Amino acid sequence: MSERKYVTTVGVEVHVELATRTKMFCSCLNAPQDVPPNTAVCPVCLGLPGSLPVINREAVRLGVVAALALNCAVNDRIWFERKNYMYPDLVKGYQISQIVSPLGGNGWLAIIGDDGEEKRILINRVHLEEDTARLSHAGDNSLIDVNRSGAPLMEIVTEPVMRSGREAEEYVRKLRAILVYNGVSRCRIQRGEMRVEANVSIAPEGATRLGVRTEIKNQAGFNHMRSAVEYEVRRHAGVIESGGTLHQETRGWDDANQRTFVQRSKEDAHDYRYFPEPDLPPLKIDPAWVKEIGAGMATGYEDYVRGLLDHGLSPADIEALSRNDALGFLRLAAADMPEKTPLFAKRLVKDVFALANSTAMALDESKLRPAAFRDAALLLENGKIAAEGFRTLLDLLYREGGAAEQVARGNQLFVETDHGAVEEAIRKVFAGNAAMVAEFKAGKTAVRNALLGRTMKALGKKADPRVVSGLLDEALKNA
Ligand SMILES: [Zn+2]
Repeated sequence: MSERKYVTTVGVEVHVELATRTKMFCSCLNAPQDVPPNTAVCPVCLGLPGSLPVINREAVRLGVVAALALNCAVNDRIWFERKNYMYPDLVKGYQISQIVSPLGGNGWLAIIGDDGEEKRILINRVHLEEDTARLSHAGDNSLIDVNRSGAPLMEIVTEPVMRSGREAEEYVRKLRAILVYNGVSRCRIQRGEMRVEANVSIAPEGATRLGVRTEIKNQAGFNHMRSAVEYEVRRHAGVIESGGTLHQETRGWDDANQRTFVQRSKEDAHDYRYFPEPDLPPLKIDPAWVKEIGAGMATGYEDYVRGLLDHGLSPADIEALSRNDALGFLRLAAADMPEKTPLFAKRLVKDVFALANSTAMALDESKLRPAAFRDAALLLENGKIAAEGFRTLLDLLYREGGAAEQVARGNQLFVETDHGAVEEAIRKVFAGNAAMVAEFKAGKTAVRNALLGRTMKALGKKADPRVVSGLLDEALKNA
């Protein structure tokens, strides 16, 4: 097979669940997997007759944040359409979506292209819609959970400008980092909070028209998407060269066998019988509000990363922070004290990610909040708690949440600043280890560390090694 004669074209559609408290058009809780199945529902998200949807302002705000972060223009007048189709997970029989007047469009996101140069991936549109119910299959039975019905969803569609599976993978990774950083969505892939579809076509070099495209649905991970795209490129070339016919269709990815398979032939927009949602008036998006949102947004993701380099963080640390979705967390933790950013970054990479590993719970699944983390790191920095106490405190905050000071006090983690108590502990250790003290006096100074260790142990997590060390040396001098 001679793939080199062909130019690959890839476009990507991404759906993300917005991190709002309530659903897109009703006040049901938007936490589909955190409450028992089929409990976060109401007549609106079930589409019962007589119920009326109301647009969630926070969902629109997050959509604007995403649009601005992706360099899109925000439309000042938008409306919603009904997209009609039948599927078991669509209890209403239609989805409220946007086709004619998306919230935003004409944006871009920069990646490093296959040629090593910066490349702008053009964003065609960013629009708002609602999610469907969740189906799961157990043996011969299918279960439906409508908690997710009506959850706020955003779709981000690129122009077909990527040239390989690698570029597509780089695009979705960067997109995810930007959305998480800006608090638009938590984008937890395993929870379906970010779903990726890639459409692929190949055409002979120099051709003026794109080839027949196939769409690859909802891959479980970004590497799966890349594998699927690369497989499709080879499959298309094989079909063309054997004189076969390619069909426009939707395919799934079979990771076990490393191949795609046909799911269904592709619908066109007219199959959905879109029409303007009769229960919602057009929505005016005040440019002043958009401006205000823009002003309130954090430093752009790229600038923030550059700033971290300027703060002296290593690329490896930044990569670790990004991989663990901790850049937004770091930004919030250091919001009032940017000069402490390197300190907090170091603690995140060293201590918090260790906790993520040992508890098998990612940072954004944990109970640790940026403010509590900041306070805990400062308690350590200011010598109010010792290293051992800090680790205990962080562990408690990570698993159970709470405010740092309160948890530290409740668990008696503050260091013993009462010198009397430390001296008392040293006296007891000396009394119980008279032989060691005698050895020290005879010149065997190595036993000092053993005595320090015993004193620290006697004091527990409250002990500040610096204080104990100083007082111990004093005591040894006078012993
Ligand atoms: Zn509802």
